[in-house]
Amino acid sequence: MTDSPSTDTTLPDGFGPTFVTALRDALEGAAGALGDLDRRAGDGDFGDNVRTAMKNLSRELEGEAPEDYRGRVTAMSRAWLGVGGTSGPLFGMFYRDLAKAGGDGRTLDLDALAEALEAGQAVIQKYGEAEVGDRTMVDALAPAVTALREAAAGGKAPAEALADAERAAVEAATGTAELTARRGRASYVGDSAKGVMDPGACAMALVIGALRSAADGGEVRTDWIG
Ligand code: ADP
Ligand code: MG
Repeated sequence: MTDSPSTDTTLPDGFGPTFVTALRDALEGAAGALGDLDRRAGDGDFGDNVRTAMKNLSRELEGEAPEDYRGRVTAMSRAWLGVGGTSGPLFGMFYRDLAKAGGDGRTLDLDALAEALEAGQAVIQKYGEAEVGDRTMVDALAPAVTALREAAAGGKAPAEALADAERAAVEAATGTAELTARRGRASYVGDSAKGVMDPGACAMALVIGALRSAADGGEVRTDWIG
């Protein structure tokens, strides 16, 4: 009897630290553009919130944060929990769940990551009460979770599966330009936000891009944001 060929879905060594570094670089690079989007379609504080979170992250990483996946993603969670706005606590809780993919002796593989991302989506929706289509970070995350699940079920390797998820997230984030906000302070400006992408959805697409980048070693593209 021969074993049927199966894909190794374990994420590469150093996945957590590489993910967090790639995400920090992408968010720092895009902070200005993300702030512009929030100025045009919200109250304008999102760029500063991103910068504050990344400053907090540097402090966390200089401290006691262990250099494994769970430690690094928990540092990202703590960094966002220390930020105001709606996005601070929501991203903070999201990363707390994402960190659990690397928990308790479990292998950090594609299934664990998909499960943790899905839990992160659930916690954002539990506290933020946004549905898909409300023009929030959920709009980028939900299709990424679906794409990752499908790719994992189809036996794709991590880099390929995460590339599918990134494509879905970026496409959906771009599509938020056509949506009217029903959550967050962007809802106060109503239809005048039409044509402007939701900054939180764009930031969430960068999260998925950084996960892909940690799997395949490639760059995180931010040029589509502005
Ligand atoms: P605020 O809306 O309070 O000014 P930020 O500027 O920090 O918050 O973050 C704005 C982003 O947060 C939005 O682009 C959106 O993606 C996300 N967001 C706002 N409200 C919610 C919510 N209730 N659920 C999920 N995401 C939200
Ligand atoms: Mg704002």
